Amino acid sequence: MKPHTTTTLIDELTQAVGAAHVLTGNAIPLQSCTDWFQTHTHVPLALVRPGTPVEVAQVMTICHRHGQPVTPQGGLTGLVAGAVPAENDIALSLARLNGIEEIDTAACTLTVLAGTPLQTAQDAARAAGLLLAVDLGARGSCQVGGNIATNAGGNRVIRYGMFRDQVLGLEAVLADGTVVCGLNKMLKNNAGYDLRQLFIGSEGTLGIVTRAVLRLHPQPQSCNTAWCTLPDYDTVVRFLRHAQRTLSGTLSAFEVMWPDFHELATTRIPGLRSPVNAHGLQVLIEMEGGEAGRDMAMFSNMLEAALEQGWLRDAAIAQSLKERESFWRLRDAVSEFPLMWAPYCGYDVSLPISSLGRFVDELQRALRDTFPHCEHVHFGHVGDSNLHVGVHIRPGHGVFPEDRIDACVYGIVRRYGGSISAEHGIGEHKKAYLSHSRTPQELALMRTIKHAMDPKNILNRGKVLA
Ligand SMILES: Cc1cc2nc3c(=O)[nH]c(=O)nc-3n(C[C@H](O)[C@H](O)[C@H](O)COP(=O)(O)OP(=O)(O)OC[C@H]3O[C@@H](n4cnc5c(N)ncnc54)[C@H](O)[C@@H]3O)c2cc1C
Repeated sequence: MKPHTTTTLIDELTQAVGAAHVLTGNAIPLQSCTDWFQTHTHVPLALVRPGTPVEVAQVMTICHRHGQPVTPQGGLTGLVAGAVPAENDIALSLARLNGIEEIDTAACTLTVLAGTPLQTAQDAARAAGLLLAVDLGARGSCQVGGNIATNAGGNRVIRYGMFRDQVLGLEAVLADGTVVCGLNKMLKNNAGYDLRQLFIGSEGTLGIVTRAVLRLHPQPQSCNTAWCTLPDYDTVVRFLRHAQRTLSGTLSAFEVMWPDFHELATTRIPGLRSPVNAHGLQVLIEMEGGEAGRDMAMFSNMLEAALEQGWLRDAAIAQSLKERESFWRLRDAVSEFPLMWAPYCGYDVSLPISSLGRFVDELQRALRDTFPHCEHVHFGHVGDSNLHVGVHIRPGHGVFPEDRIDACVYGIVRRYGGSISAEHGIGEHKKAYLSHSRTPQELALMRTIKHAMDPKNILNRGKVLA
């Protein structure tokens, strides 16, 4: 772009949102130039911070006229470098679009601006006696718009579904600045194409989400949690189906940790202790219900029946909130792995539940055979067919072979008919492998949709589709 054109562009953007909200050069914070792991860093042409959906539309109208690429940015907690701008991009921050617009307790909906942190929206729902059901570790920083753009998952998907299942309606700004407003509050609405689905999970490549109507649920009145050890994966699946059957729709988490995870977390992370003594696959199981006394009895009966079947080697029920938190702290040790194990590759894949156990066995063998100095961990939201894998190579064994580890993991995912992304999206990191999980016809349709909605290819250029 010629210098005078850049000056005109910045002048126009400044007029639209005010000089205080168009930052350039050193004024741009590092966080807006990089991803969560700081693996990709580029200083954009400018960081623009509109304060209203109307200003977002004005920014897009200007950028469209100039053919100027734009990278939408939410809370910057994404794990696939989807919000990292290229050097000539405008980074468009949604952070000032922050606020709850309405809670409708009769319709059980919350209308929110896209830049609102997830935790703020959760707190507002709770204050109204309702539940915004999706929850993830980044809740304090990630934004509702980012959650929608990535179709975030988290720990309660088995009960409430992904973020997609919480979005009843939304408003989005298209690449040319057109505002598409569909703030629907109804669970049923089959009036033509379901346009909100174009924006959910499209990682800022088809439009910028500015507002959303989210579905709320009744607040649970009870929570029961246990940590169990099981001998093998087939028994884990039997236990999962038993829990789903006997807990009548109240099962809210079913987290599985393979022995490699349990060993690493309990021996190398200070302050973490296992609630059980047995070896095997570890399961953190939780139910949330509506009546404390009845729910506790139902939960204990479910565990007793599993013990009688010989499925559990050991089990510990959390007797207090503190104990429940200590169980979850052990499961959430995952956030320590990349720090303690750098360099580290983390994977977020999904497989049919029926083949997930065989997949882990084969992957562990392949990793050990191909990278004799590697260490690995396997864990995941198995009830949602989601597996996370972490791989580290012990120091002193040459350059970290990230590309070869990617090829090994994704090659096996492809053979098992799995997905290279269960919940984090594709962004920059995974686009080279998208064809492992999508057919050529699916990819062609994605390109057709992208071209129809963004013919100048200015929205999050180069992300998702290679
Ligand atoms: C500690 C930690 C725990 C996590 N746990 C989970 C988990 O359990 N489950 C899970 O799914 N993810 C998890 N994540 C990943 C991350 O939090 C989610 O992907 C989150 O939804 C991203 O939201 P964000 O606002 O930070 O988006 P960003 O990182 O800013 O952006 C993510 C993508 O969305 C686009 N985008 C952002 N806002 C908008 C908008 N308003 N309109 C259009 N496009 C937009 C960006 O361009 C980018 O492509 C975790 C991350 C961390 C750091």
